[in-house]
Amino acid sequence: MFPGSDTGSLAGAPAATAVFTTVLTEGPVSRVGLARRLGLSSAAVTKAARPLIDLGYLHELAATERTGPGAGRPASPLAVRADREFFVGVKVTADELIGVICDLCAQVRATARRPLANPDVDSVLAEVGRLVDGLLDTLPEHRRRTRRLGLSLSGDVDHTTGLVRYSPFLHWRDVPLGERAARLTGLAVTVENDVKALTAAEHWFGEGVGAESFALVTVGTGIGCGLVVNGRLVSGAYGVAGEIGHVVVDASGPDCHCGGRGCVESIAGTDAIVAQARERTGHPDLTLDEAVTLARGGHELLRGVFTRAGNAIGCGIAAVANLVGPTRIVVSGEGLAAYDLFDAPIRTSFQRQAFGAAARCPLTIRPLPFEEWARGAAAVSIQSLVLP
Ligand SMILES: [Zn+2]
Repeated sequence: MFPGSDTGSLAGAPAATAVFTTVLTEGPVSRVGLARRLGLSSAAVTKAARPLIDLGYLHELAATERTGPGAGRPASPLAVRADREFFVGVKVTADELIGVICDLCAQVRATARRPLANPDVDSVLAEVGRLVDGLLDTLPEHRRRTRRLGLSLSGDVDHTTGLVRYSPFLHWRDVPLGERAARLTGLAVTVENDVKALTAAEHWFGEGVGAESFALVTVGTGIGCGLVVNGRLVSGAYGVAGEIGHVVVDASGPDCHCGGRGCVESIAGTDAIVAQARERTGHPDLTLDEAVTLARGGHELLRGVFTRAGNAIGCGIAAVANLVGPTRIVVSGEGLAAYDLFDAPIRTSFQRQAFGAAARCPLTIRPLPFEEWARGAAAVSIQSLVLP
């Protein structure tokens, strides 16, 4: 039934992949517009779209516009049938699973969470099975039309094999997560690093749409960065790229858990912020939430901690802009629950450190609920349907 045979991928000829990707990420586009955009003949676009229409993934909208006076029949834009197929996305954290069901356009249709009492692989997989089952039960068509599951977690993940090489928060090494989750659920499974998954979602369905190069910076326990250059996610020859958290911003700064010194993360990671807040207030049990509340209330010493952290993040982002020159940068993450405290220092230090015209790169700074991370996992699963 599906052109890509046993994997169920829709990827056929390159022209078909290009047509489907463009309509999916940029919304309804006429055949003429597609031909122009992709450098194809109208006949090639029609031929590429035909099987996708036959399978129900694309449909023709009613003709709305004439291309010009006497230009023949009006153009009928091609659009994606969003509810043709559904995708489950699950973000795995150390103590909780966050799941969503998305449609083909990555719009969230249902959400669910499950606590994780135990981070060992068998327990986590059993909970993943329950979470997925619950999500598929939300509507009959969700169960009928879902064939794919995307999982995301922090750490070193081999996306091509679904192997988790190392997860620091779960203490996993060399876990064949994709294979085991596929056996458990009967779904086709993708596994991806959580920051890369989120970057994929922004690139195809968010603020990165249409940007040739784009960076997503996440602020939280760790400080991560996903990079898209020339339209592709950068993975790094050694599996490391965009490690903005370990860019040095103060060579005589605090020791970092990575073995380095004065890294962005050693100043602006959640643990570092809490440690500095405790030291400055003399309260050994102060929590992050309490520090945020006190800083918002005008506690000068604590405001200083967030300002220093924001400065460090801004310097790291400027390093990305200076080296890669992205079209735009989005700064997000669960750590940005306190983004009102970070926003100004991030922008100020970015402007100061970005070289010349790189400072024109627009920054979007916004908080990010965990459901967005789960949506990222679903977006990678959508890509596995579309891309070869
Ligand atoms: Zn470091």
